[in-house]
Amino acid sequence: MIRKAILIAAVFLPLLWASSASAEGPEFGGPPHAASSSTQIEGGVQDEPEEPKEKFWPKCMKCKTTGKLICSEHAKGDALLEVEVDYCSFVYTDELCGGTGWVSCPDCERPDVDKVLADKRLKMPVLRDEMKKMDETMKFDLHTAVSEHFVLTFELDSLKIGKKRLKQHALIHLYLERLEKLYLDYTTTLMVADSEFTERFRIFVWGNDRDQADGSLRFCKMSAGQGVKLMGLTPTYSVCGIKKYHAGDEELHRNLVHNTTHLLLSAQKPVDWIGNKKGGWADAGLAHWFEDRYFNVCDNYCYQEQDTNQDFKGGKWKPAVKKMVNMKETPGVGTVFSRNTDTLTLEEHAVAFSYIDFLIQKDPKMLNLLLKRMRSKTPTRDALSEAFGLSVLDFETEWQKWVKDTYPLR
Ligand SMILES: [Zn+2]
Ligand SMILES: [Zn+2]
Ligand SMILES: [Zn+2]
Repeated sequence: MIRKAILIAAVFLPLLWASSASAEGPEFGGPPHAASSSTQIEGGVQDEPEEPKEKFWPKCMKCKTTGKLICSEHAKGDALLEVEVDYCSFVYTDELCGGTGWVSCPDCERPDVDKVLADKRLKMPVLRDEMKKMDETMKFDLHTAVSEHFVLTFELDSLKIGKKRLKQHALIHLYLERLEKLYLDYTTTLMVADSEFTERFRIFVWGNDRDQADGSLRFCKMSAGQGVKLMGLTPTYSVCGIKKYHAGDEELHRNLVHNTTHLLLSAQKPVDWIGNKKGGWADAGLAHWFEDRYFNVCDNYCYQEQDTNQDFKGGKWKPAVKKMVNMKETPGVGTVFSRNTDTLTLEEHAVAFSYIDFLIQKDPKMLNLLLKRMRSKTPTRDALSEAFGLSVLDFETEWQKWVKDTYPLR
C-alpha cells in the first residue's frame, strides 16, 4: 500500500527523525508496519529540543542528497520505474544493484536510504525463485513485476495509453500502479485491514491465445480463451490482452478492475467465493461498482460459457436502473438474491450493481460486515438483517426510493 505508506511515513516522520537515524525516507514508502513499528523512540529523545520537521543531510552534489544513484548497468528511464516495486524482471539481470536499479551514493552518508536499498535486495532472491518457477511452468521467460500486493505478468509488447504508445516495461509498471490503486480504494472504501489478506494477487495478461490457454490451465486450473479466475486461496486471474478481446487500454484496464475486485472479495478473510453460493448479486455487484466508479461504464460479465463482452444499455447502468424502477420492471429482489454469478441475467447484473451502490452509500462498514457474513455461509436475507436491520421487503422499498431520488435520467 504505497500511497498509504507514504502518508503514514510522513505522519511518523518528525518522531522518527528526532529519534533515529535509521528512519525511512518518505520517497521510498516502505510497508506501513516499517514506519509504524518504531520502537527506537525511547532513549535520548527527551534530551533533545523539538527537532525541525526534516533532517538535514550534508549537501551532496553527486546524488543531490538523495543518497542513491542509478545503477550504471541500467537506463535512467528503467531505474526510475523501480522505486516503488519489489521486483521487476526487466532490471533483474544485474549483480551490481541486485535487481533494484539503484546503488548507494559513494560520496555521502544516508543510512536511511541505504537501509531501504538493502532491505529490497535482501527480499530479492526469494521473489526471484518464485518468478523462476513461474517461468519454468510456462517454459519461457515471463515479463513480471511485483509490488506490495500484486504479482503482474504482462506480455503485451506495447499499448496506446491516451495518445502515447507505451512499451512493455513502462506498461507493466503502469498496470501495477493501477492495481495497487484499486487495492487501496477497495480497502479504504470498505474499511478492510491489510491483515485480512494473506497472499499477493497474481494477474496474467497474455499476448496471444495459446499462452492464455496454457497459462490459465497452469495457474488457474482451467483452460479458456476468455478470462479465467482462481478465487479464494492463491487468487489468480489470467486473461488474453489482445485487441480481439479488449479494444484498447481503457477496456483492458476496466476488465482488470472488474476481475481483480472479484479476487479481492473472495480472498478477504473469511476466504470464500460467494458467487456459486447464491451470492452472485454481491459478487458481481461489487465488481461492477468499481467499473462504474472509474469509467461510468459496466461491460464485463462473468458467464461461464458466453461471450463476456455483451452490452446492456451501453454500459450506462444508473439511468437504465432508474428507468426500470420507474416502469416497475425491476427483477424481483428475492430472485436476484438467489442467483449465482453465472446465472444472473443482464437486468439482474444492473440491479445487483445498484444494490451495492445503495448499500455502500448507506454504510460501507456494514456492507463489509454483510459480505463477511455471506462468506461465512449466512444467507443474504439474514446477513442483510444483521448488518443493516433491513428485511428483504424493506430493502427493496428503500432501495427503489433511493434510486428514484438520486439516479440521473440519462
Ligand atoms: Zn551522495
Ligand atoms: Zn521495472
Ligand atoms: Zn464478474
